[in-house]
Amino acid sequence: MSGLLCVQDSWPSGTECVAKYNFQGSTDQDLPFCKGDLLTIIGVTQDPNWYKAKNAVGREGMIPANYVQKREGVKSGGKLSLMPWFHGKISRDQAERLLYPPETGLFLVRESTNYPGDYTLCVSCDGKVEHYRIIYHSGKLSIDEEEYFNNLMQLVEHYTKDADGLCTRLLKPKLMEGTVAAQDEFSRSGWALNRRDLKLFQPIGKGEFGDVIKGDYRGTRVAVKCILHDATAQAFLAEASVMTQLRHTNLVQLLGVIVEERGSLFIVTEFMAKGSLVDYLRSRGRTVLDGECLLKFSLDVCEAMEYLEVNNFVHRDLAARNVLVSEENIAKVSDFGLTKEASSSQDTAKLPIKWTAPEALREKRFSTKSDVWSFGVLLWEIYSFGRVPYPRIPLKEVVPRVEKGYKMDAPDGCPPAVYELMKQCWTLDPAGRPSFLLLREKLQNIRLKELHL
Ligand code: ADP
Ligand code: MG
Repeated sequence: MSGLLCVQDSWPSGTECVAKYNFQGSTDQDLPFCKGDLLTIIGVTQDPNWYKAKNAVGREGMIPANYVQKREGVKSGGKLSLMPWFHGKISRDQAERLLYPPETGLFLVRESTNYPGDYTLCVSCDGKVEHYRIIYHSGKLSIDEEEYFNNLMQLVEHYTKDADGLCTRLLKPKLMEGTVAAQDEFSRSGWALNRRDLKLFQPIGKGEFGDVIKGDYRGTRVAVKCILHDATAQAFLAEASVMTQLRHTNLVQLLGVIVEERGSLFIVTEFMAKGSLVDYLRSRGRTVLDGECLLKFSLDVCEAMEYLEVNNFVHRDLAARNVLVSEENIAKVSDFGLTKEASSSQDTAKLPIKWTAPEALREKRFSTKSDVWSFGVLLWEIYSFGRVPYPRIPLKEVVPRVEKGYKMDAPDGCPPAVYELMKQCWTLDPAGRPSFLLLREKLQNIRLKELHL
């Protein structure tokens, strides 16, 4: 029996690891690495303590298992918090109960009940709880009206380093029930990157909430979504945690996340040199892009969506603007901001009307099948070289007409077989739409036929 208990889970080929320490290696079979390097397992050895692995530039060799940390998907996306010590509107008594038993330096922040809009910092100190009022004055927060902060995180960071007039330095956050400190969770799962290894260059895109900046992470070109505002950063934690769970050649790959104590969040992904697919199609146009190229983009996206379908993820915002093109012309799906593991609902106010399936607009019924609808619209975008869907129809009229069964015409020059697929994606009954698996097979057949012509 005891022999069986010793057998450890071996890591399958493809497992990603981050180096915890430097490793020089002692023979030329070994693969040397530095702390923080990303390594991919490519095989097991007879010795469970050693794996065959390859590094970011493709060099292969043996690595000791205990020098690296396996990367895992972050599953607790909805519970991740940048401010796990923030307890919202609770009373003074409740705060004191939460900080019991006494432990000097244990703290939390609550919304003030006496002064709506202000906050209170509650700190346990020598057996009693002190309550410091945090005043909110013209966009800034302060306890002593000497030192001002942009947000609660910066304030907490300050008093973590220095008591600066408080009874004690803030030593230990009292976590709100059901939350997990985002930084801890990304570190634990191997996705936290080191800020010092990241160089930021020029902006390459503007997202809705923050700039996308070209950067370098340990010699690799990367794109960095920088979210500087704490409340927005909180919303993007979910996006980042979804990305830790997905890996496919046609999904923009996450390299890691940096959570700064001051409340900024950096989401570091692979760099997609040719930008968004919609811009790519518009700028090159018909004269440059041939049918083979359009079909290849369609297949790239379809394969990513088939992977999401199999893994039960719903994208919810599939559109050519959210597909990026790599240096090698590979299309990859990005923008997992709305992606959820199937089955949760969301606010319909901000949905992209022309891309969203009728049942999703009407009843928030998001599913792989609503993604299939969007994929049909995306195919139309590809074959019309980046036109805006439903041309000449006022936005207000789109939904009522679609609900009555209206479907867009085939774009000029679109192969009939491809248009047939678009129309199937736009079946009003979600159950009548094809799966991504079927769509992928059909697109592959179309490609084979075209190649034989
Ligand atoms: P948002 O969804 O907040 O609008 P996006 O993720 O769509 O932000 O990014 C905005 C723009 O930044 C994209 O349209 C693209 O031009 C650029 N961009 C985003 N990610 C990358 C990347 N990985 N590589 C290159 N450019 C990118
Ligand atoms: Mg976008």
